[in-house]
Amino acid sequence: MPICQLPGHLINQIAAGEVVERPASVVKELVENSLDSGARAISIDIIAGGQKLIRVRDDGSGIPRDEMALALSRHATSKISSLEDLEAVVSLGFRGEALPSIASVARMTLVSRFGDSAWQVEADNGSLTEPAPAAHPMGTTVEVHDLFYNTPARKKFLRTERTELNHIDKWIRRLALARLDVAFTVTHNRRTTLNLKAATDDESRLQRVNAICGESFASQTMLINRESDGVALSGWIGLPTYNRSQADLQFWFVNGRSISDKTLAHAARHAYRDVLFHGRFPAYVLQLAIDPTLVDANAHPAKLEIRFRDSRMVHGFVSQAIEHALRDTRPGGHDISPAPSTTLLKSHVIRQSTMSLPSGGGRSSSVAEAMAAYQALGAVPMTGQNLPGSASSPPLGFALAQLAGIYILAENSDGLVVIDMHAAHERIVYEKLKLSFADKAITRQPLLVPTTVSVSESEASLVEESGDLFSQLGLSVDRSGPTSVLIREVPAMLRQGDAEALVRDVISDLQESGTSNRVEDICHDILATMACHGSVRANRSMTIPEMNALLREMESTERADQCNHGRPTWTNISLAELDRLFLRGQ
Ligand code: ADP
Ligand code: MG
Repeated sequence: MPICQLPGHLINQIAAGEVVERPASVVKELVENSLDSGARAISIDIIAGGQKLIRVRDDGSGIPRDEMALALSRHATSKISSLEDLEAVVSLGFRGEALPSIASVARMTLVSRFGDSAWQVEADNGSLTEPAPAAHPMGTTVEVHDLFYNTPARKKFLRTERTELNHIDKWIRRLALARLDVAFTVTHNRRTTLNLKAATDDESRLQRVNAICGESFASQTMLINRESDGVALSGWIGLPTYNRSQADLQFWFVNGRSISDKTLAHAARHAYRDVLFHGRFPAYVLQLAIDPTLVDANAHPAKLEIRFRDSRMVHGFVSQAIEHALRDTRPGGHDISPAPSTTLLKSHVIRQSTMSLPSGGGRSSSVAEAMAAYQALGAVPMTGQNLPGSASSPPLGFALAQLAGIYILAENSDGLVVIDMHAAHERIVYEKLKLSFADKAITRQPLLVPTTVSVSESEASLVEESGDLFSQLGLSVDRSGPTSVLIREVPAMLRQGDAEALVRDVISDLQESGTSNRVEDICHDILATMACHGSVRANRSMTIPEMNALLREMESTERADQCNHGRPTWTNISLAELDRLFLRGQ
């Protein structure tokens, strides 16, 4: 066949292959256009999973009459006009592809009011009507009918109405989390499925997170807000004790765009590394604001991925910001109790009748003594006045007794506190070991016989370029040939380990995220094992002063709300809950 120029309509249909995968992509593109137009409220109507109708209406800037045809033609956009604009782009769209692509695989009606006149055009199979006067408030409505009616091959790939609706729903939720300040209304088959008011303060923002991510997440999160050198991270991170079996509640937004990005995902995973059970996933909703010239938004056909100019900087900033927030997960460190006590836990405590109350020293005197000692330390008093005699109590209160050789029972101003003494002590010892480890530079140990590792040429160059980083990690590795490197020294702590495997893992970390925390992670694993062996075992009986000392140490230990494996270390059973158990006041 001779080379021939493809007709414009077919070019659009081919382009639609990339932009319009399914009804959800249409919803995403139209809502993004509404957001770009400055809309404050967006309503989305779906019929039959989007196959019959997708209608998006906004109260944004609108489109002037004589730009309506342009809006529907390929490579026409009002968002950029030069390479400089592209490199600093802050709008969600910039390619001028969505409307013509969608119009080429569906029947489209575009109605818009700009200034004081409203106009309507219809697009079908490559033809476009002249603008006709219409009635419409300020803003734009785009209707997309019978998606893929003229591309049967595409239509065959559509799934059931329910499945397509789930995809649409997923996108709407992302967009609604990206722009908490915009109101969203959604109907499916004329029934309202989502109604979100614009959120403008912390409380209403959390309400939106609650509506989209669920109450159990919203009630177990910490607010995060950090900025440094023109990069800012804000949003909600789940407490480590709220974790999931899948990475299904992790939302990332970069400059308002919902994306998935390996560097960001890894940075978050890294920050949670020693407060989470192995194989469990953290949950979060996070917004990163960064100078747009440091991000390539044009790196993916559907703009679902981005590229950072300096991914190492971003990784460091994000993981430190999250890590910093997680340090506060200690008793009294943040205002949400770590593990909501469950009926199961309550009945467990009640059934234990063999409390090993300490001999001598009755409860009130030990509490009074402990309080005196606590006040002598100059500790900041907490609110709550329910303790016997005394002023206010520290977050974990004062020890009353040991239960079953495993738990410490204590009383604070809320009621009863139950502490898993081994888990708590393990965290305390671990944090101490980490601190003393971080204080010193990593001690190195030369290998008796330097090890040669064969690698690819690009890996060998990477090793050559990353000498400083390797040396910070306590590794001395040199390039010894075009495709080989030589390991001379390893961190003393890891001398028993497999040096070759370690170096290979560090290289692949470097390739993946531009940085490596492998040595630190492995060292921390070793410290965690040491901490486990060095902490109080079950069945060791403790005196009341020893127990109180443990409680005070927990309060001053970072991340003490969970043990090294991510299990909660303590829980609070309030007096009100106890009253309910005993039907008091009913
Ligand atoms: P892009 O978003 O990449 O610019 P689109 O094909 O999605 O490309 O839209 C083309 C143009 O149409 C936009 O640049 C914008 O000027 C205009 N437009 C589309 N939707 C709207 C809307 N809802 N409100 C105002 N203008 C719109
Ligand atoms: Mg667009």
